[in-house]
Amino acid sequence: MRSNLADFSIIHFDSKYVRMGDINVEQLFKAESVLDAVLTKQDFIAKNIADFKKLIQLKKIPDIEMGKQCQHPYPCNFSNYCNSLVQPEEEETTELDNNIQVDKAAWLNYSSEFKFPLFFFDFETIQYGVPQFNFSSPYQQIPFQYSLHVLLEPNAKLIHSAYLGDGINDPRPALIEQMIRDLGSNGSIITWNMTFEKSAIKKLAENFIDYHEELMAIHDRVVDLMPPFRPNRAIVYSDAFEGSYSIKKVLPVMVPELSYSNLQIQEGGTASFMYGQLHLLEPKEHEQLRSDLLAYCHMDTLAMVKIWEKVEEA
Ligand code: SF4
Repeated sequence: MRSNLADFSIIHFDSKYVRMGDINVEQLFKAESVLDAVLTKQDFIAKNIADFKKLIQLKKIPDIEMGKQCQHPYPCNFSNYCNSLVQPEEEETTELDNNIQVDKAAWLNYSSEFKFPLFFFDFETIQYGVPQFNFSSPYQQIPFQYSLHVLLEPNAKLIHSAYLGDGINDPRPALIEQMIRDLGSNGSIITWNMTFEKSAIKKLAENFIDYHEELMAIHDRVVDLMPPFRPNRAIVYSDAFEGSYSIKKVLPVMVPELSYSNLQIQEGGTASFMYGQLHLLEPKEHEQLRSDLLAYCHMDTLAMVKIWEKVEEA
């Protein structure tokens, strides 16, 4: 049924807008007609509603295999549950405490790309709808903090360094300079879910062109510790992961003596929100929050080190 309205438009932030100097409101927002898209979806919506009505009357969960629909157009909120139903293939495994199974051959093969010195690295980022700094766009991930644990060689003493912005100025220029110094020019940079760190580094390289070459060299050394824990890879597997491969779920199973639970900040969303509050605080609270942020990010990279050590021991 055609509406009598002349048009439907959505006004939204334009993600292509890059702030330079004062905000240009005309360029910050974009008005987009969605009338054609709405009209072409009308039949589809009507059919979907009819299908959903049938679906909710079923007595059993439909038997659908995981596939593209689990990620597109959005990651499905039930993926942890569905992942937990996927049985890992039978392989020769080593069993650790907590019924953790390690497929040693697959792990050696996977981790052969990890080259010493090993840099266990994690960013925290903040997103501003209205860009706060030059060379940034609406909702761009702005790294404001990192933690780094370095193992120069097997069994070497662990070295730690960290960066945290002041909550007022653009944290990226000083972060980039320290990162380049701290990460050197060789060895693997180990992350948990490298897509996030790699895309943030790539964006830094695009926005700060003077450091492009050094940042892209860092980008190309990034590797990922997370995939062996995915239920569909199951190189490291435990029922206690409950189908999740979030580091917050994997750590207490792999390394029960280490925990986020004593920290004031226990996950990235809170870290990001609290960083946004930093500039509002009196000196005493300001210092306390800084140390809470540093402690949280420190735990993220220490967790990776301890998880990696545990799997190596298997
Ligand atoms: S993860 Fe979501 S979309 Fe994928 S099979 Fe499970 S319920 Fe369906």
